[in-house]
Amino acid sequence: MKVLVVNCGSSSLKYQLFDMTDESVLAKGLVERIGIEGSVLNHQPAGKGKIPITADIKNHTIAIKMVLDALVDPEHGVVADINEIDAIGHRVVHGAEKFSDSVLITPAVMAALEEFVELAPLHNPPNISGINACSEILPQVPQVGVFDTAFHQTMPQQAFLYGIPYEAYKQYGVRRYGFHGTSHKFVSQRAAEMIGDHMTNLRIITCHLGNGASISAVKNGKSLDTSMGFTPLQGLVMGTRCGDIDPAIPAYLMKKMNLSPDEIDNYLNKKSGVLGLSGLSSDFRDLEQAADQGNERAKLAIDVFTYTVRKYIGSYAAVMGGVDAIVFTAGLGENSARIRDHICNGLEFLGTRIDPVRNDVRGKEQEISVAGSKVRIFVIPTNEELMIARDTKKICAPLMK
Ligand code: AMP
Repeated sequence: MKVLVVNCGSSSLKYQLFDMTDESVLAKGLVERIGIEGSVLNHQPAGKGKIPITADIKNHTIAIKMVLDALVDPEHGVVADINEIDAIGHRVVHGAEKFSDSVLITPAVMAALEEFVELAPLHNPPNISGINACSEILPQVPQVGVFDTAFHQTMPQQAFLYGIPYEAYKQYGVRRYGFHGTSHKFVSQRAAEMIGDHMTNLRIITCHLGNGASISAVKNGKSLDTSMGFTPLQGLVMGTRCGDIDPAIPAYLMKKMNLSPDEIDNYLNKKSGVLGLSGLSSDFRDLEQAADQGNERAKLAIDVFTYTVRKYIGSYAAVMGGVDAIVFTAGLGENSARIRDHICNGLEFLGTRIDPVRNDVRGKEQEISVAGSKVRIFVIPTNEELMIARDTKKICAPLMK
């Protein structure tokens, strides 16, 4: 069974074509600058270099057409006929309270996704465009929606409600939803496999540290709490997002700086985080280098970031009544030994003992705690695309019999 995984952003489209007989990736690629001058598709068949294909890519439908053409191209293609694609899985950011698992896309699901645009105005519209584009070009191929919020639907009310009038939740859906769910689910499952125990016996803290960052308490295989909230702005200090702040700050700054609601939103989402703190960069590679050269604000930004991660780990150990494993994933979590070391430094009271030699690893699955550490620590590269492909197969395979 061949599954195409599609992840649409407002001006981008990432894809991977999987052969699910052995979960291998046949080809992957990225379309950038959709609807903007200079659009390009970088297509990469397995085992080969990137092939850039430039064209005027006005919308997601044209982007999908180009991807399909690239997949069957006589030279760079990986399938003989487009009908070899059995199913398509889409990353969808917001499934609100309606979807606690992946679903087959139907007209009713599409109507629900339209309804949730209000909750995720930046993310759900391109996801919807991607699904519509596929329906237009490949109407006979079943499609599945895999939601970033779904894994966190197991959170109890005490974890997802905010201390504001209950009516705001009931009437407007204001609650913690959490994001990066597919990643938290994937790495927590993998950690259980590496430990050799069932998820149902384990308390795992998963740290998805990328440009967007979130952390989850996964108890007995279920998300008990997570740091992102009603939107992905809450929680950890991120590349450009502020994370947790006093909720009175936006109103105060709006008055002081004469900002509109959209402008304060942009300020907190795009100009804050370690970028705002350092005044230098949102990328930890730049910050680490600058800190080494004596840049105090770069050092400060790293310290604030690692402090907040440590604080969340402590609080999630508290709500789970202990912790058996901590997992680091995503760009920063997978690649920066130094940040992992900073975060774990001071957590020894929980029973964590990081091994500096094992921690010297980049982008590779590895246990990084010393043998016998009460709390096991792992680096596990996330693979949201594979998770989407697996769910798509699970839902679509029975339809093909
Ligand atoms: P992601 O959003 O998961 O793609 O992660 C991207 C972020 O990971 C970048 O902005 C960097 O801050 C961070 N990152 C990636 N590679 C490294 C590295 N080798 N050292 C430090 N940080 C890294």
